[in-house]
Amino acid sequence: MNAEAAFQGRTLVIVDDDAVNMGVITDYLETFDLRILTALDGQDALETVRAAQPDLILLDVVMPGLDGWEVCRRLKAEPATCEIPVIFMTALASTEDKLKGFEAGGVDYVTKPVRQEELLARVRTHLKIRQLTQGLQVQNARLEKMANELEGLYRQAARSNEQLEHMVHQRTRELEEAYRMLEMMDKAKADFIQVAAHELRTPLTLIEGYGVLIEEEAECSPGLKRLVEGILTGERRLHEIVANILDVSKIESQVLQVSKDPVQMLDIFEGLRSQFESILRERRLELTMSGLDGLPALLADAELLTRMFQHLLVNAIKYTPDSGSITVRGSLVEEGGNPWLEIVVQDTGIGIDPAYHELIFASFYQTGEARFHSSGKTKFKGGGPGLGLAIARGIVQAHGGRIWVESPGHDEASCPGSAFHVMLPVLEAS
Ligand code: ADP
Repeated sequence: MNAEAAFQGRTLVIVDDDAVNMGVITDYLETFDLRILTALDGQDALETVRAAQPDLILLDVVMPGLDGWEVCRRLKAEPATCEIPVIFMTALASTEDKLKGFEAGGVDYVTKPVRQEELLARVRTHLKIRQLTQGLQVQNARLEKMANELEGLYRQAARSNEQLEHMVHQRTRELEEAYRMLEMMDKAKADFIQVAAHELRTPLTLIEGYGVLIEEEAECSPGLKRLVEGILTGERRLHEIVANILDVSKIESQVLQVSKDPVQMLDIFEGLRSQFESILRERRLELTMSGLDGLPALLADAELLTRMFQHLLVNAIKYTPDSGSITVRGSLVEEGGNPWLEIVVQDTGIGIDPAYHELIFASFYQTGEARFHSSGKTKFKGGGPGLGLAIARGIVQAHGGRIWVESPGHDEASCPGSAFHVMLPVLEAS
């Protein structure tokens, strides 16, 4: 037997009404590893092919009853058999006859009398093509299956996506609602602070008024005078705190009124120097100023700027140990093609950890622990309510400027110091 891979386990149906021709071909092809089935007429051929589902059909054209062309047409019309290749065996040699065979669905033809080698070559070729086609069909089916699975996954992903979107929408709605509530609560808090601060100012003014009267009456009673002075000092500190709270609430609700008048930095700092003179002396702190006298005037709110630098100086005093120094430097700089005043308030104090450089500008924020809080306004490390820098930033921003701090870190032993930078736009140079 001539074993050939293309033939192994393959089934051939040979259809011919001429038993002699059939015998010759069958005998020859059976020497190869092929399974051969035979049919003697068209009807027989249809039944055999339907039942056996062969890999190739050799089909005689001229037969009594159904001829080869009709058999081929019927096979091609049935889904179960339409893929099986048909090779015609024909004694009719005209081009028209060959064309008729191709039109009926044949893939090839051999002419009778059949030459065995030629027949074998064609059988081999078409079995190979059939094998490749079947391989492709398997691949195709696999690909189709994968495509279906992918589609399933895609649909699943789309469903998950929809669910996620729904959750995100719901979350967004919840967050919007929470935000609205927070806004309302924030507004209520700001309103309360403003009303409370206003209400506190009235009794404080009364205390101050009566205190001053008692102070005058107590001229000849040093003991009483000292007591009243104590009351008045506490009252003034309380007054300042209430004023700070009011400032912060105005800044936070963006209702801070800023007037625009020509302001000289030197004037502001001369005023502040005399205001802090006795404290500086008491704490043996040196205050030096440079570069302030040559600066152009700003169109700004002198009172607000004074309050802002007052907070910076109070902090510099508070966070610098006795015998330290505070330096105020002014300069005219250019940024973005515009002139700006840069004022730096630098101290030789305990410094600020870079992690807090932004946080300290938030309202009510203080570094360190509240339980170590001391309320002395200018005592070393005497904390305040944590409003000074929030007010300072609010005032600077209301003037279109910027404020930030530079400090290598916090160290109460080595005192690395802090430098607060204030940049104010020179809206109109005078
Ligand atoms: P406070 O009323 O606590 O002084 P501030 O808003 O003025 O509030 O300052 C916030 C915090 O920033 C302070 O508690 C302090 O820790 C830190 N701070 C501010 N200025 C200085 C400074 N010059 N040196 C060191 N720390 C400072």
